[in-house]
Amino acid sequence: MSTTTKAPETSSTKADKPQTYGNYINGRQVKSKSGETFDSFNPANKNEIIGHFASSSPEDVKMAIDAAEKAFHGWKHTPAPHRAEIILKAAHLLETRKEELARTMTREMGKVLKEARGDVQEAIDMAKYIAGEGRRLVGQTVPSELPMKFAMSVRQPLGIVGLITPWNFPIAIPSWKILPALVAGNTIVIKPASDTPLCALMFVEILNEAGLPPGVLNLVTGSGSKVGNAIVEDPRVQAISLTGSNEVGRHVAGRCGQLMKKVSCELGGKNAICVMDDADIDLALEGALWGAFGTAGQRCTAASRVIVHKARYEEFCEKFKKMTSALKLGNGLHEGVEVGPVVNKAQLESVHEYVEIGKKEGAKLLCGGNILSEGEFANGFFHEPTVFCDVKPDMRIAQEEIFGPVTAIIPVNDFDEAIAVANGTQFGLSLSMYTRDINRAFRAIEDLESGIVYINAPTIGAEIQLPFGGVKQTGNGHREAGTSAIDQFTEWKSVYIDYSGRLQKAQIDTDDLVGKE
Ligand code: NAP
Ligand code: MG
Repeated sequence: MSTTTKAPETSSTKADKPQTYGNYINGRQVKSKSGETFDSFNPANKNEIIGHFASSSPEDVKMAIDAAEKAFHGWKHTPAPHRAEIILKAAHLLETRKEELARTMTREMGKVLKEARGDVQEAIDMAKYIAGEGRRLVGQTVPSELPMKFAMSVRQPLGIVGLITPWNFPIAIPSWKILPALVAGNTIVIKPASDTPLCALMFVEILNEAGLPPGVLNLVTGSGSKVGNAIVEDPRVQAISLTGSNEVGRHVAGRCGQLMKKVSCELGGKNAICVMDDADIDLALEGALWGAFGTAGQRCTAASRVIVHKARYEEFCEKFKKMTSALKLGNGLHEGVEVGPVVNKAQLESVHEYVEIGKKEGAKLLCGGNILSEGEFANGFFHEPTVFCDVKPDMRIAQEEIFGPVTAIIPVNDFDEAIAVANGTQFGLSLSMYTRDINRAFRAIEDLESGIVYINAPTIGAEIQLPFGGVKQTGNGHREAGTSAIDQFTEWKSVYIDYSGRLQKAQIDTDDLVGKE
């Protein structure tokens, strides 16, 4: 912790010396009340400080919620198509600044530049998609059972919503929450992950630059327990949308349950790719490699299990070992690098602990397995892409989310066993089936227990125009993106308009209505 001096007006990544950034409240950056800061650094080189950020307290959260409260009336009454115009303008600003944002992201959390560009692109796609909702926000009109009576439903904003986001998609995930919440007329306080405050701050500033009135979108940085809890506990915050770990999800959902708040949680996964005997094996290998080691395995949808039919098992393991060993690890900004570092020291240790667990459980280490700390890796958090084979479905490495570059290959005897093993965890986010048999493909679609199913594609690669989320312990029944994005951030209001000029009683005055005017 250090003490802040003066917070700058806007964020920029151009300065050589790390800058000090404030919270973003009521249309500008402000220092935290205590003046204390924490650092965000580059996981490829921990000596490179990305910036100093406000270490906030419940007092700072209160200030942000005050601003959101004041802005709500005006924003709610701004016509939705006008709200959407601002979002569309932000989409264009994001396009202009895509490269700068992507480079900042790679520096701040390590994913390779190509993937960081994809992360920003997802926010651009979301902004364009959601801007269209400004002219829809569809409700229903239904017939009334009584004459001269009109029945319809309209969507209403919730009020102030609290958003809590993780570091692995530091712009895409905030965009999934912020943009639908905004178009629906809510005001916002967001707490980004402490590993990626700059990405979130830049995104929030771009939306404000696009024309959001002050106070509509506020950001407070700082620890989950202090800042996150203060957002959850404030009675003025009507709903919480969280993406993160199961542990935090259970805590937040529990509190929201007691406080009668709407809460949506997108949590962990233990996703699997199934490779059948009739699969295009090279396609499956390529998919498994991308699914397991994209974003260094730090995706909620990462393929951390590969379930392979015994008829192709030897061939698959042998080729997969070769391909994994050839992956180029390094700083994600460097040309040709395919796998970056993991996000921080604690994550590196946790990933490596699972490697040790896998060995103790009797799984066979096919390749990788080491932390790299020599030469170009000396100051970063690098873990070799690691593959276990001969993994049993009930081993911890096949049941628990590792969230790093480690995957487990599990042999099975047939299609039914593959489905059973794929379904045999507490999670249910993303499952995939490689087969050339159309009947098997449709059976997989029907029987895989997950919010997302892929056929002949890996477990990662969702597009924003379909709902995103999982079943079982992965979530609590909500979905982000697609048409469901708006549901999270609106309440239904049912409206009856009686223009008959007399008291009409539903369910009672319905006799003898046939043929009457
Ligand atoms: P995390 O540790 O649960 O943190 C998520 C967010 O919650 C962060 O902003 C964190 O703040 C905050 N937080 C921590 N404790 C809190 C508390 N007591 N009250 C309120 N907020 C609190 O998760 P992560 O390590 O950032 O992200 C990895 C996890 O996210 C993985 O489990 C992954 O599967 C999951 N994830 C799920 C999806 C999905 O859509 N299903 C997508 C991406 C990631 P600090 O950063 O300050 O601790
Ligand atoms: Mg960082």
